[in-house]
Amino acid sequence: MLEVRLQGHRRFFAVQDLLQLFFGRAEILESENLVRVPQGPCLTLTSRVGEGEVSTLRPDGSGPRATQPEDSHFLGRLIRVQLYDVLARETGRHFPWGSLTGIRPTWLVTERRREGWSGLDIARELVHFYRVSPARARLALEVERTELSQLTALEPGDFILYIHIPFCPSRCGYCSFVTPAGVARPAAEHLAYVTALLEDMDHFFQSSLWRSFSAAGRRIRALYIGGGTPIALAPEALDLLVGWLQEHDLLLGGTLERTIEAGRPDFFSPTVLGRLRDAGFTRICINPQSFSDELLQAAGRPHGRRESEAAFAMARAAGFPEIHMDLIGGLPGSTGATVLADIRHALRLGPQSLTLHALAPKRGADWQDFVFQASGDLVQSFDAAYRLLRRSGYLPGPLYRQKRIMAGLENCTWALPGAGGLYNTAMLSDRVDVLGFGAGAMSKRVVAPGELRRLAAPREPGLYISRLAGHGQSRLALWETEL
Ligand code: SF4
Repeated sequence: MLEVRLQGHRRFFAVQDLLQLFFGRAEILESENLVRVPQGPCLTLTSRVGEGEVSTLRPDGSGPRATQPEDSHFLGRLIRVQLYDVLARETGRHFPWGSLTGIRPTWLVTERRREGWSGLDIARELVHFYRVSPARARLALEVERTELSQLTALEPGDFILYIHIPFCPSRCGYCSFVTPAGVARPAAEHLAYVTALLEDMDHFFQSSLWRSFSAAGRRIRALYIGGGTPIALAPEALDLLVGWLQEHDLLLGGTLERTIEAGRPDFFSPTVLGRLRDAGFTRICINPQSFSDELLQAAGRPHGRRESEAAFAMARAAGFPEIHMDLIGGLPGSTGATVLADIRHALRLGPQSLTLHALAPKRGADWQDFVFQASGDLVQSFDAAYRLLRRSGYLPGPLYRQKRIMAGLENCTWALPGAGGLYNTAMLSDRVDVLGFGAGAMSKRVVAPGELRRLAAPREPGLYISRLAGHGQSRLALWETEL
C-alpha cells in the first residue's frame, strides 16, 4: 500500500489528485493526515511544509526539497510537482500533462498571459517546472491562440445560453450523465420536463432583470442544446421546445451559432433534422464515438458504423453549415490502431470539427471496476491522430480534461478554420456569462477576470421540476447585484 502523510499542510485534494493520476483511486483519511492507495506500491512518503521548506520525502529522508513559496496557489502546485517526480521515478511512468491534474490545463497559459509572459517562457515553465510534455505545451499554446481568435466575435456583456435535456434511450457503460431514472422515460415525462423547462425560461426572459440587460444591449451570442440525446425526446416534447425557440427568435436573433448535440446516430431522421434546421440551428453534433461495431457493442451503444454514416449524410442533406463529431479513444478492446482508424474514417466523412475524447468513466457509471491505467499506446495514438488532423487542415481548439481520464490525456476539439464551436470556447474560457436552463445546467456569472459565481440546477429531472420556482429566483439573484 502507498501512503502519503501530510505534515504542516492540509492539501488533501492536491495529493489525492496526483495519486489518482498514477493509480486510479486514492482514499483520504483526514483524521490521520493521510492519503493512501491500497493497490499502490509498498511505500510511505511524507509531504511536508514548514520552516521555510516544502519537501516530499521517503523514509530514508531522500526526495525533493524546495524553498516554501508565499503564494498559496503555487504551494499546492509545488506539492504536486514534488509528488509527481517521486512517483514518476518509482513507477517509471510519465503523463502528457505532467503534474497538472486540473480540468483545464490551458488555464495556466491564460494566467501567465495576463501577467505578460511570452509564449516561449510559458512553454518553458510548462515543460521544465510542471513536467508537461513538449507536445502538450505546444498544444496548450495553439489552443489559446484559437480560443482568443474565436472570442474576438464576442463583446463584453454578451451571454451564451445552454439548455439541458437529461434523457437518453439507454445508458452507455462509461456514462453517468443520465441517472437511471432518466433512461428511456415515457413521453409524458419528456413533455412534463420540457413544459417546466420552458416555464423556467419564460420566468427569466420576462423578468425586469432581462429587460434591463436587453436595454443595455446585452445579447445571447451562442445557443447549445445538450444532453443526453436531445433528438430522442418524444416528438411532442421536441416540437414544444423547438416551437418555443422559433417563437423567441427575437431573443436569439443575435446568436452567431446555434448547436444541437443530437448525439446518438440511431435517432437521426430527415424529418427531425429538417425541423431543427428550419428553427435556425447551424451546428449539429453527431456522436459516433467509434466506427468499430465491436467496440460500440461492448460500450453498450445500440448503433454501429452504418448508423453514424447515415446520420452524417442526413445532417449534410439537411444543410447544417457545421457538422461536428465526437470520438472516444481508449474504449475497452481498442488499440492505438483503432483510434487512428476512427480518425481516418471521420476525416473521410469530412466533419467541420471533431472532438477526440480520452475515455473517462464517470463515478456512478456501470463500469465501476474499470482499471485506470497509463497507456503509452493510447498517448502515442493521440499524438499520431493530432498529426493527421494538423495535416488535414484542422486546428486545435477547446480542450479540457475529466476526472479519471485515461492515461492523463485530454479531450480536444479540432476544427477547420472558421468552425469549432463558439459556445464551447466561450464556456471553457470562463470569460463569458452562461445562462443555463434544465436539470443539472450550470449558470455562470463572470464578476471580474478570474472571479466567477456559479449556480447549478438540481441534476435529477424530478427535483428540477419540483424546485423550479426557487431555482429560478436563485438564478435571477446571481445577476441582480449588477443592477
Ligand atoms: S448517449 Fe451520451 S449521454 Fe447518453 S448514455 Fe451514452 S454517453 Fe451518456
